[in-house]
Amino acid sequence: MWKNHQWVSLRTRPTGFQSRTAPCGVAPGVHTYDGDVRDLHVLPKAHLHLHFTGSMRHGTLLELAERDGIHLPDALVSEWPPQLTAADEKGWFRFQRLYDVARSVLRTEDDVRRLVLEAAEDDVADGGRWLEIQVDPSGYGARFGGITAFTDLVLDAVRDATQRTGLGMAVVIAANRTRHPLDARTLARLAAQYVDRGVVGFGLSNDERRGRTADFAGAFAIAERAGLLLAPHGGELRGPEHISACLDSLHAGRLGHGVRAAEDPDLLRRIVDTGVALEVCPVSNVALGVYSDLTSVPLPTLLEAGATVALGADDPLLFGSRLAGQYATMRAAHGLTDAQMAELGRMSLRASRAPSDIRDAALADVDAWLAAPEPGA
Ligand SMILES: [Zn+2]
Repeated sequence: MWKNHQWVSLRTRPTGFQSRTAPCGVAPGVHTYDGDVRDLHVLPKAHLHLHFTGSMRHGTLLELAERDGIHLPDALVSEWPPQLTAADEKGWFRFQRLYDVARSVLRTEDDVRRLVLEAAEDDVADGGRWLEIQVDPSGYGARFGGITAFTDLVLDAVRDATQRTGLGMAVVIAANRTRHPLDARTLARLAAQYVDRGVVGFGLSNDERRGRTADFAGAFAIAERAGLLLAPHGGELRGPEHISACLDSLHAGRLGHGVRAAEDPDLLRRIVDTGVALEVCPVSNVALGVYSDLTSVPLPTLLEAGATVALGADDPLLFGSRLAGQYATMRAAHGLTDAQMAELGRMSLRASRAPSDIRDAALADVDAWLAAPEPGA
């Protein structure tokens, strides 16, 4: 297992893919770069798979925990980023426990505002032009005066962060599939109230292997009637049959992960034909043990089939890698060209709910990024 997946040098412009940037024990066959390549930190892109709690900076977690005397497990301090696996329920439970600890450090409105602002700043530093941040308000309702008050707070923080960073942002409200489907309906109605007021989508998160997807059809019907994007998690911890369930029962328009569509050519064709985008998060796939290493993440299969892919970081706090890191690791693992990287940036923008002015400006800048001479050429 590889543990040191902090993509240390990715914060600086890569002048070549050096072995120290690779995960330890990097698999044979990983392509390396001898020459310069265009800087992925300035490739315009949209970030469509980022969880609210999981977006927290590690330094912020440590600082807030110290402020309130909250004891953090070693996996979040000296052994960060944690060694995870979701191969079994126990592994997922451990992941969830760390998540709950991280949630517990957010105690004040200012903490929430800080988290959102830092997420925006980090995406801007990674070339982000648009961010759809996913939040389950029920995890915070008790502490912040209910789910509606918390949603108002997040949306206000989002507006403020946009103003301060220039990053376009919107919110996806996500239900938790380990809770009762009636809770999901409540959240879908909440999301519907905020259509055109900062909420663009409705999701379903937590362990795919738990709960019955079809039981959430009612909640997704509410969201669908409201015109929200439907973006449940599916096709990471479970395979093609669960992706089909998300399409059939929930009418998914975009899939959280969906990467395992690569296992079923007919399903993949259906996804391509219907224009369902896949929010692929390579570093979390490997961290959770879905694939043994980054070269095994079947991005080339998805791209060759014509699927729309938007790379996302999922939970940087637990996986140790942010937005540009996803692009850099896929470039390195699969030897992708700058033209392919540009197309990944374009696809993320096209799959987003960004307003057309933001999207079109960013798409033009992708063309400019690719038209610029390669560094050192
Ligand atoms: Zn996720």
